[in-house]
Amino acid sequence: MPSQPPPPGERANEATRHLPIQEPERHNELAAATVLVSGGRPAHHPGAELTQPLSLNATYIAGGAVDYARSGNPTWDAFEDTLGRLEGGSALVFASGTAAIHAVLDLVPSGGRIGAPRTVYSGTAVALDDLATSGDAEVTRVDIADTPAVLAAIAAGPAPELVWIESPVNPTLEVADVETIAAAAHARGALVAADNTFATPLLARPLTQGADIVAHSVTKYLAGHSDVILGALVTAQNSVHREAGVYESLRAKRSRRGAIAGPAEVWLALRGMRTLHVRLERACANAATLVARLREHPGVMRVRYPGFGAIISIEVGDASRADAVADAVTLWTNATSLGGVESLLERRRRHAAEPVSVPTDLLRLSVGIEDVEDLWADLDRALRPT
Ligand SMILES: *Cc1c(COP(=O)(O)O)cnc(C)c1O
Repeated sequence: MPSQPPPPGERANEATRHLPIQEPERHNELAAATVLVSGGRPAHHPGAELTQPLSLNATYIAGGAVDYARSGNPTWDAFEDTLGRLEGGSALVFASGTAAIHAVLDLVPSGGRIGAPRTVYSGTAVALDDLATSGDAEVTRVDIADTPAVLAAIAAGPAPELVWIESPVNPTLEVADVETIAAAAHARGALVAADNTFATPLLARPLTQGADIVAHSVTKYLAGHSDVILGALVTAQNSVHREAGVYESLRAKRSRRGAIAGPAEVWLALRGMRTLHVRLERACANAATLVARLREHPGVMRVRYPGFGAIISIEVGDASRADAVADAVTLWTNATSLGGVESLLERRRRHAAEPVSVPTDLLRLSVGIEDVEDLWADLDRALRPT
């Protein structure tokens, strides 16, 4: 019988339930697909609800683990238990991926050093630029796929407080050697955070490779239906920084600052996450088929694909041609975002905030779960030189 998480009432003592655990939890024996389907459900007993209900509550009767819903909600617990088990840590849901990223950056003391990828999700790039411009942090940006350069940057000068990893990078798809980078960062006492939005815990588990914190835009694959904005962090239970109480600090700040996730969004995200494995399997299969054909396409100069996942970036010659392709598709949608069931594409540099290291003619393709021949027919027609 699958192990069940304790019901919310017994999930007491918020202060201790996320402390590092020595014994592997029994649910760690379950495969990810099983955790996705069975995680965060009410305990089995006659008459119990099968699905965690949407909890719309502002407060709780005194004496329990949580007294006010800015600090906790059973719907959050169900989502966090499921995501935490998938990543192998303790999850915290945030109002957006961006809010989650800022919560990590806020751990860096004023004047601290941050190492980060040269190309990185544009919102993260803006946050890092703001910190550097204001003088609140010293930020070093290096190609995250160039491991020797990353290690040299970590070793040079005063020790970094935080090494930020994103792998694969949005939208240029470089892949980081998380294990090697995390070991070097830890040797200098730095906290290691990895944005795992593109890979999802099904394709990469950075906490098992030494990262202390994983960040997600839940908006993307985890929720998977382009109908919510949501984020999450997952902290390692065996982090070398556990003494510093990273989880407790992030959780306390989330409550105090109060820009929290609505329970309805979290409920939808957990509902969407139930099918992550089957959605991703189809999307990845579609992507692999499209990559092989795009590599042969006369209208495509370069295909970027890390060999896994369902995001493909292509370069088509120049920005106006990329815009023309985005205008010409009819089944694909020219829209930002990614990771939903529907296929989207966009020219990333149309956004002023996109890092200049992203080619102006790059189109990012988020491959959905439609029929691949329909996807190809539309793309092939839009890409034909006119
Ligand atoms: C979209 C995205 C984010 C930001 O998440 P939001 O939920 O939109 O705030 C962060 N990282 C990556 C890699 C993303 O693709």
